[in-house]
Amino acid sequence: MASAQEAEAIVSACRSQTGTITKLEKSERKERPPLLYDLTSLQRDANSRFGFSARRTLAAAQRLYEEHTALTYPRTNSRFLTGDLVPQIKPIARLVGSTNGSAYGRASEYVLGLDVLPLGRVVNDARVTDHHAIIPTLAERHPVDKFSDDDRRVYDLVVRRFLAVFHPEAVFENTRVETTVLSEHVFRTRGKLMLVPGWRGVYGESADGEAASDDDEGREQQLPRLDQGEDALVREVGSEEKETKPPRRYSEGSLLAAMETAGKLVEEEELREAMKDSGIGTPATRAAIIERLIQVGYVEREGRALVVTEKGLNVIKLLGEHALTSPGLTGDWEHRLANIEKGSDSRKAFMGDIVKFTSDTVSELDTRLKGVRIPRARLGPCPVCGHEIVENRKGYSCWSREDPGCGFVIWKSKAGKSLPVSVARELIRTGRTEKPVSGFKGRSGRSFRARLALEQADDGKWRVEFDEPWAREGARAPSPASEAAATEEPAAA
Ligand SMILES: [Zn+2]
Repeated sequence: MASAQEAEAIVSACRSQTGTITKLEKSERKERPPLLYDLTSLQRDANSRFGFSARRTLAAAQRLYEEHTALTYPRTNSRFLTGDLVPQIKPIARLVGSTNGSAYGRASEYVLGLDVLPLGRVVNDARVTDHHAIIPTLAERHPVDKFSDDDRRVYDLVVRRFLAVFHPEAVFENTRVETTVLSEHVFRTRGKLMLVPGWRGVYGESADGEAASDDDEGREQQLPRLDQGEDALVREVGSEEKETKPPRRYSEGSLLAAMETAGKLVEEEELREAMKDSGIGTPATRAAIIERLIQVGYVEREGRALVVTEKGLNVIKLLGEHALTSPGLTGDWEHRLANIEKGSDSRKAFMGDIVKFTSDTVSELDTRLKGVRIPRARLGPCPVCGHEIVENRKGYSCWSREDPGCGFVIWKSKAGKSLPVSVARELIRTGRTEKPVSGFKGRSGRSFRARLALEQADDGKWRVEFDEPWAREGARAPSPASEAAATEEPAAA
């Protein structure tokens, strides 16, 4: 719809009219249980369900393997079991069924009651190299009472998945309704109903529970029984202004998924499985790669999102089209390493190519970066003397070689963060930031967000201060509690 007037015209035309259901489509959709966990899929799930970092999940899985011997080896790339494990499946199901109160009792009984275990998507010797998928161990008991909270949650994911793979498909009914008003205005509604929970029952789902998508036709919803040709009274009608959204920022979960397929968008689980040998990193190294990017300052955590920093952007800009920026390069390397393991490529040839690539890259970048000066951002006139403010190594100031300016400076470094150009520009233009700036570190090491303001001290110098109630009252390092207060209820602190 092009304009608000157009929308308003439709709104007033439809008000208090009666519409007719002109289209009613129902379709059944079946959903197979997901595959067993390898490390990456476990990390993705723990990230989307609990917000765990990849490293945190690996640590919990490692404790569950090493200290509690409740889960099998976690640093695995396989989502399948080998045939020799089949005799252990029912005993493991029996063990977890008596573990953790009665949380897994019903699902465990279902598996124990099967005459024939559905093993088609569970057992595949060809897809197990060093280690099989992560499953509960066959032990005397699993000491859940000794688990930390993280351990318990990761254990719970693995146990439920282990039981779910032997359950039947979940069945949904999708409904699409079109209601026409005044024979020209068509309103679309979509609904979804879970008919048979199947494997989703293992997760305690009984009615419709899958995450709904929020698109132009609204959230999927449960609908009453409807018939084609039925009349529908227009109770409420309104227009809404929406913008098409850019793709969401990566969370650790979605970044792990992108690493697995070297940046290619592959949703289908079986296809992802086949691409595994050419991803970025291995299950064991992916968490460390993300932590490293954060450590060197290319990426920052912002809530669950991972956000590129100015520094990260500059590195990519300087590298241009260089192969180092291509996810495919790392994918190729991993692929060759896998081939060496299988004997179809040689270590000597690979190392030779790496040495050549490295020296080519160094000499190429040496030439390309010779004399390159990172363009200094210009930030507008100095609020004190009116000279142009430029970016220097440590700050933003009106100093230049030709003219020392008035001494006004915004230092980049503030509470563990380097203030980006965008923040300095806003401070210079308006004296404060409209929104809280994230990524500051308190004394406890915990990160926090706060608004900033330029304030003039008694000595006449301008400084960047936190523009929050707790800062004005003289509090120093904000605690997590005042962090919440700072961003949501400024008056409460
Ligand atoms: Zn100045």
